[in-house]
Amino acid sequence: MTKAGRHFLQIPGPSPVPEPVLAATAQQVIDHRSPEFGELGAKVLSKVKQIFKTRYDVIIYPSSGTGAWEAALCNALSPGDKIMTYETGHFASLWSKLATRIGLVPITVGENWRGGVDPNVIEAELRKDTGHEIKAVCVVHNETSTGSTTRIKEVRDAIDAAGHPALLMVDTISGLGSADLRMDEWGIDVVVAGSQKGLMLPPGLSFNAVGPKALAASKTSSIRRSYWDWAEMIAINKTGYFPYTPATNLLFGLDKAIDMLLTEGLDNVFARHERLAEATRRAVQSWGMENLCQSPRHFSPVLTTVVMPEGHSADAYRRKVLKNFNMSLGSGLSKVADKVFRIGHLGDINELTLMGTLAGCEMGFELAGVPHQKGGVDTAMRYLAETSAA
Ligand SMILES: *Cc1c(COP(=O)(O)O)cnc(C)c1O
Repeated sequence: MTKAGRHFLQIPGPSPVPEPVLAATAQQVIDHRSPEFGELGAKVLSKVKQIFKTRYDVIIYPSSGTGAWEAALCNALSPGDKIMTYETGHFASLWSKLATRIGLVPITVGENWRGGVDPNVIEAELRKDTGHEIKAVCVVHNETSTGSTTRIKEVRDAIDAAGHPALLMVDTISGLGSADLRMDEWGIDVVVAGSQKGLMLPPGLSFNAVGPKALAASKTSSIRRSYWDWAEMIAINKTGYFPYTPATNLLFGLDKAIDMLLTEGLDNVFARHERLAEATRRAVQSWGMENLCQSPRHFSPVLTTVVMPEGHSADAYRRKVLKNFNMSLGSGLSKVADKVFRIGHLGDINELTLMGTLAGCEMGFELAGVPHQKGGVDTAMRYLAETSAA
C-alpha cells in the first residue's frame, strides 16, 4: 500500500539521503577506466580527507561498514595478535567477534552498555602488558546500539600515558559526519567508516583512513588478504583509479555529500546534531522515560536510545508507530532487544523533521498504551524555539 507523505526513516542508519545526493547518484554510469572517472576519483579521494580531518590516505571500499572492520584488522595485524576491545554495546562486540574469526585474540577489558569507554581502564590494562603483546586498541566512537559516544582523545591519551605502542583503531561508522572526529590531531592510526549514516549516502561504501604507523605495520602483517589489501589500493588510487570496479554512482553521491557537509561547515553540522540530540533528550525526560546512556558526557549526538517501561514491548510499540505514522524507529539489538528503541537524529535532519519524529513517538505511546507523561513534544519545541537564531 502506498502512503501519502514521506516515510520517516528515523533509525540510526541508514539515514535519509538528501535530494541533491540522490540526484547525483542517479546519473548514467561511466567507464571506470575513462579520463572522466580518473578526475572524479582523484577529486573525491582528496576531498574526503577533510571529513576525516587527516592528511593521510583514505581508502574507499565498495562494501558495508563490516568490510572496513575486516580490512582494518587484516591489513595491520598478524594471526594470533592480541587486540584490546571495550564492549560499549552490540557493535563493539561484533567487531571483536569478527577479529576472532580471522585469527586474532581480542581481550575485552571493559563492558558498559550505558556509557562510553573508560580511559582509565585502557591505561591500567595497557600498563600491565609489559611485553607489548597487545597490538591494537579497537574502540567504537559512536556506539549505535546504545547511543553513547566515546571520547576518542581520552583513549589516545590513555595509550600515551601507558607508553604503549599499540595502534589505535576507531570505528566511526555511525559517527563520521555527525560527531567530531579528528584523525590526525587525536593520533588515530586507522579510522573505519561507512557511507549510510552521517555521510547521508545510501549503504554500499566503506572507508579505512590509514595513518603512517598502521601503514608501516601493514608491510609486515601476515593475515591473508587480497580484496582488502591497502597497498594495491593506495598505489592505484594515486592516479584516481581503483584496482577493481568501484561503486561509481555512490562516488558521484559522495562527491555531492562532501560538498554539502563542507558548505554547511563541519562545526555547524556537529552543532546541529548536538542541538537536535539535546531536544530529543529533553523530550524523553518529559515523557518520564529513561535514556539508555546514563553518562551525560557520553550522550550521542547521533541517536537516543529510550528504555521502555517494564513490561512493555519496544518492538510492538515500533510496529504501531510504523503502521500508523509510517515511521521506522530503531530496534534494540542483542542484549537489549525488545527492551529499548532508538531514535535516529542524524544526517539530513532539521528541527521540523525532528519534531515530526518526536510527535510520532509520543502519539505511538498513546496508541500502544505505553505509560508516559504528556508534553515531551512541547518541551522539545520550547527548547528549539529558545535556541533558535533571533
Ligand atoms: C552500522 C554500524 C556498523 C555495521 O556497519 P554495516 O554497514 O552494517 O556493515 C558497525 N559499527 C557501527 C558503530 C555501526 O553503526
